[in-house]
Amino acid sequence: MNRVVILGLALLFIAGGAAWYTGVFGGSTARIDVALTLYDTNASGNADLIRERIGEQATIWRWDRNDDGTEDIVAYDGSVSPEGQMSASGAVTAWDFGADGILDSGTVPAALQELMRSPGYATAVEAAGAGNVELVDSSLRAFVDTLRKGYDEWRLSGFQLPILGAKLPDADRLLPGARRAYRFGIHQGFDMYPGHVGVPTGYGAPVIAVKTGTVVRADTDYVEVTAEQYEEAITISQEAGTTPEAQLDLLRGRQVWVDHGNGIISRYAHLSGIAPEIVMGGTVNAGTVIAFVGNSGMESASRGGNSGAHLHFELRIDGRYLGEGMSPDEIRLLAGPLLGAGE
Ligand SMILES: [Zn+2]
Repeated sequence: MNRVVILGLALLFIAGGAAWYTGVFGGSTARIDVALTLYDTNASGNADLIRERIGEQATIWRWDRNDDGTEDIVAYDGSVSPEGQMSASGAVTAWDFGADGILDSGTVPAALQELMRSPGYATAVEAAGAGNVELVDSSLRAFVDTLRKGYDEWRLSGFQLPILGAKLPDADRLLPGARRAYRFGIHQGFDMYPGHVGVPTGYGAPVIAVKTGTVVRADTDYVEVTAEQYEEAITISQEAGTTPEAQLDLLRGRQVWVDHGNGIISRYAHLSGIAPEIVMGGTVNAGTVIAFVGNSGMESASRGGNSGAHLHFELRIDGRYLGEGMSPDEIRLLAGPLLGAGE
């Protein structure tokens, strides 16, 4: 989903002059000059932020927020003075570039979008050369914080809880970060137990997609764990003093994972069944029934029973779980509005 395809740093090293293009700002043919400035905002040795000044018209910021060599584009519309003075007042909008151009243009002015789609712009970027590396000062650090906040707000918008009409679980032990003594580990999700989320969530209750996305895991041919497999997973966890990933995965039972793009994946676990139309690689719409509550992977299921059924739901952000390192109060403050569950 995150089709962040940038022109490529290699292109930035092609030396050359300026390019010409039919201006959308002036309505006549104008020359575009692109000037690049590179910043290493986290002192990693790599430039993770590139300021791209497009003539006198706009400033684009290309930002590699994970420092993984792939730039997630975030645009910042035009609030840098000719002297390079930055203002944090401009609207920060995350952009997602693909082969078709700007995929999510947010509030980026139409004229700027048009400019960036023009062939003359690409030529001008190629012509800009490698760019200068400049020191990072406190105003730039504040700017990166603004970018990060804007990007997170954008990519974390539009989610809901996986049970229709539910609230967040009313007990702290059902939240991420709670201890799970039986497996010597820490809980990474929200346990939607009957009697704790405001609506019925017993065995067989429907589970919905928390946002539109792509199915990246669907255990459609799941076979329930045996009592021996369950005991072994617990023994291994006890010896490790934590729950290793393989054992944790077994204990989550039948699962569906949905990729929402931009590093965000939702996981639904302990399912009793998966909706027939759910297939690997398929698209699911927000609110669609994707599966049914169960107790798969739990001790009760390994012994043939169906007690203890509940939905275990995780929201993964860049490989970490929502709520990691936070107190229950902090989790409620963050997750309530995020998941449309009030506070
Ligand atoms: Zn759980």
